[in-house]
Amino acid sequence: MVSDLRIGIDLGGTNLKIGIVDLYGNVIHKTSVPTGCGPDFVVGSIVATVNTLMKRAGVGMNQIATVGIALPGLLSTRKGVVIRCANLPGWDGVPLCDLISKALRKPVAMENDGRAAAFGEYRVGAGRTSPIRNMVMLTLGTGVGSGIILDGRLVQGHAGRAGEFGHSIVKLGGELCGCGQKGCLEVYAAASRVHNRALRALENSSAESSLRSIDFRHGAPTSSDVVAHALSGDPLAMQIWDETCRYIAVGCVNAAHLTDPEVIVLGGGMAAAGDFLLRGVTRHFREQYWNVELPRADIRITEAGNDAGLIGAALLAGEVSSVTMVNQFTENIKAPVVVSLNGCPTENL
Ligand SMILES: [Zn+2]
Repeated sequence: MVSDLRIGIDLGGTNLKIGIVDLYGNVIHKTSVPTGCGPDFVVGSIVATVNTLMKRAGVGMNQIATVGIALPGLLSTRKGVVIRCANLPGWDGVPLCDLISKALRKPVAMENDGRAAAFGEYRVGAGRTSPIRNMVMLTLGTGVGSGIILDGRLVQGHAGRAGEFGHSIVKLGGELCGCGQKGCLEVYAAASRVHNRALRALENSSAESSLRSIDFRHGAPTSSDVVAHALSGDPLAMQIWDETCRYIAVGCVNAAHLTDPEVIVLGGGMAAAGDFLLRGVTRHFREQYWNVELPRADIRITEAGNDAGLIGAALLAGEVSSVTMVNQFTENIKAPVVVSLNGCPTENL
């Protein structure tokens, strides 16, 4: 039987999404479970969930070629090791690819979730429906992830850190970001930060607002309450939402000047605001873009939706384990490279 399917895993701080994906990025079957805490538990949960999903789908392990994992944070994709992950405490130094590979007996590769989502969007979303070769994606969720596609390829950079627009500084001396810098785009544009700014605005103001009817101190911080109240015309919610769109637009202006893309895609949980997000960001983007020409980049809402990360991870894993990619990788770093037993390219020490 031909091994033409791949497993994609999107390991988030809240939910663990797993899908069986075909060569073209179509999700054949998928499931989602709460992530849980700690590497031991989560690795066990991944293995159990994959096995359950495959049984339910009637897919045998001999049909699976590779496994790809998308997760937030700083990763050594070459070694398959988590370096630092703010949303997953206790994961520093965990050899995730190796652990999953040993349990599932398949080649495993990992990628930062923002870059994986950009690759997934390019292959099955905006890049499939339009003849584009250059694209930037911003995923607006708990943090702000991002990825750059240039000339049809995901840009990795020297150490696999390219395209971190969430940590580009948009306000000098601004608020402290979780990364240690001040004034990062993430501080103003992440869904969790919109929630926090609404809470702070209510505490620092006596202005009437329908937001006061919400108990902001309970539940996961999201931007959905602010969006709902802004849509119903609450002035404070509208102000916070407009400010958020303005900062996202600054990120888009910077992305446009740095990469000259045909399309900038907005994804992540905040993309659920749809046209309300698109209209606000596009208006500020046009206002702030330089005046020597009209903006050429088209801003869109994700077409791949919430599956972009797991699709991108699944497709990237297949490409990383291919002979072509390994040869290119070897040539680029001019050092002996082997593919480890788990399928993650590994530097020879
Ligand atoms: Zn930052």
